[in-house]
Parts: sequence; C-alpha cells; structure tokens
Amino acid sequence: MTHFEKLPQLVDHRNTLPKKGHYADRTTIITTRVWHHGLTLSHLSGSTALGYNNYHITLGWPGCGYHLVIEAKNIVQTPNGPRARIVYCNDIRKKTYHIGNSNNFSLGVCVTGDYRKEELSDATKATIDELQEALVKDSIGKYDKSHHQMPDYSWKACCVYNYKKAFKFLDDTKPSSAPDTYKIQEGDTLWGIANNSDGISVEDLKKANPGVDPTKLKVGQVINLGKAKKSSGSNNNSSKSKPKANLKVDGKWGNGTTKGLQQYLDTVQDGIISDQVRNNVTNTFYGTTIDFGNGKGSLVIKALQSKIGAKVDGLLGPNTIQEYLGTVYDKKLSKPSLVVKELQRRLNKGTF
Ligand SMILES: [Zn+2]
Repeated sequence: MTHFEKLPQLVDHRNTLPKKGHYADRTTIITTRVWHHGLTLSHLSGSTALGYNNYHITLGWPGCGYHLVIEAKNIVQTPNGPRARIVYCNDIRKKTYHIGNSNNFSLGVCVTGDYRKEELSDATKATIDELQEALVKDSIGKYDKSHHQMPDYSWKACCVYNYKKAFKFLDDTKPSSAPDTYKIQEGDTLWGIANNSDGISVEDLKKANPGVDPTKLKVGQVINLGKAKKSSGSNNNSSKSKPKANLKVDGKWGNGTTKGLQQYLDTVQDGIISDQVRNNVTNTFYGTTIDFGNGKGSLVIKALQSKIGAKVDGLLGPNTIQEYLGTVYDKKLSKPSLVVKELQRRLNKGTF
C-alpha cells in the first residue's frame, strides 16, 4: 500500500462512487501533480467528491474528473489533529479528465471550495501538506503545478490558493489564535463570511452581532467573530440547511425568482436586480425585476457569480448561469427559458 492511501483522513471510494463508463488507463507515467479548486463555495451541498462526480457524469464523463478530492467541509479527527477528508475517487493509473491535453501524465487533486473568495482552513492546509508529502514519498509525479500553470490554461482561475505554501503548512504552524473580529470588504455577505470561517454559521454571526443588520453591511464595518466561534461548537459536518423557495417552475424570471435567489444567497431581498446593462439576457426578464441603473452591477448577481465560479462583476450576461446549470449552452435566454426553470427547481429544493 502506498503512503498516501495510508493517510488516516483518506477514504477509498473508487468502487462506490457512481460511474457511467470507464476512464482509460494511462499510457505513460505520472510526471505532474496538478492542483485544482472546485469553484463552488466549500460549504455548499455539491462541494463534495460525490457532488463533483455526479456533476461530471452530467457532462458525459465516466465519473469524477479528479483522482483525489479534498473535502474542505468534511473535517475528520485523526491522531495528528483535525484534517479535511480526502476521497480517493479514481485509481491513479486511470487517465481521468481534468487537464485537457495533459491528462495522460497528470494526477488531478481538487480541493473543494472557491478560493477566489475563501481561504483554505488549517485542516485543509494540513491535509494538502500531508497528501503532497505522501505522494512525493510514493514517487507519484515529480512536479507540482497549479491548473493555470499547465499548457493552454493560463487563463484559468484555478487553483488560486497558494499550494506551495500549503505544502509547508505543518512546518510553519505556530500556535496562534484566530482573530476575533472581521472588517467588512466590498461585496461581503454574512453568508460569505461564515463560509470563510471554520464552523461558523450565518446564525452564529447574527447572534454574535445583535446590532448589525445583515442586509446593510458597510465596507470597513467591524463585526464580531469571537462569540460566534465560541457558540459554534463542532458542527463542521452539518450541511447547513438553505431556505427553500416556493416558485412556480415556469421558466419566467421575474421578481419572485429574483427574491428566491436573494433569499438563498442571503443578500437584500427586494426582488430587484439593480444596475444592469441591456443585453440579450437581461432583455428577456419579466416584470420589474431588472433595473437598468448605472450598470455597476448588483449584489445578488455578484453572489451568484461567486457561487458558480463566473467572473464577479454583478452584471447578468450570457455566461453567468447557463454553463453551470447544465442546460443547452446557446448564450441566450429564451422566453420562457429552460435554464430559468432549472434555477427555479433548484431554489425550490434549496440545493442550488
Ligand atoms: Zn482546475
């Protein structure tokens, strides 16, 4: 057995994850360990090896595109301390799909989460460190590269997190206490902040900041994390329940759908998407939900874009949701639209 397979935070799901077909065997050795992130915020229900596996099957792939997935939200207690769980998804001898023309010689390791918006937790950094060290001992690959350092992918915002620093994390760890407060930055929501903080929920933050109106956060405002941390206990594994909408699934994006999305993403709930520009997407909305203001973009769209891994500019356009929701990718919205139906269905389920 290899060193990496012996890590106490590793679970072997090679034979239990659903598959649709088989990846071919490699025809060459692994030279490169390629580090990815998942592009969806780590606490979301789909941010697991199983979630990626099922998503990749919808793309027509045989199964999860990565060999190993580090689940940032699944913390396991090991003799060495708390660690993010590693799911062994595909045998390392398989040529899975994660890095285009380089699949044949690359090992794919993905850390769940969106590290354009979040920080790696210590438990995740410790797992990255131990996994990389074990892979080196096993002589699985010679080089470590971020996704965007591989040929043809310089445009890709992956893996974003500082993987080289994470490899040294355990050597560098000194006992230090996490900060008790946080200064609000542009575009922050309580939901986003909770997501950046191990074991803190939005409810904890609301309790710790009784005087703070979550819909009116101001840049520079300082909020309290300390009390939230103390009251949070050990709820790392709980999948936080999200509000469920009760929308008619008619494919018509009007104020109700916007409100459902705002409720889900924990932004101001007024049913209005403000400050948009006219294009062939925004022109197909119903009612008064789109406001063509100064074109500076809207908070709920920023939150949506951040969640789905699109460019975060707050402006709805052809690229924002269609790709992610897995409907026909034709870069426009019909009236009514399949992609909006899918969005409404997911908002109703609360598992968007
Ligand atoms: Zn990637």
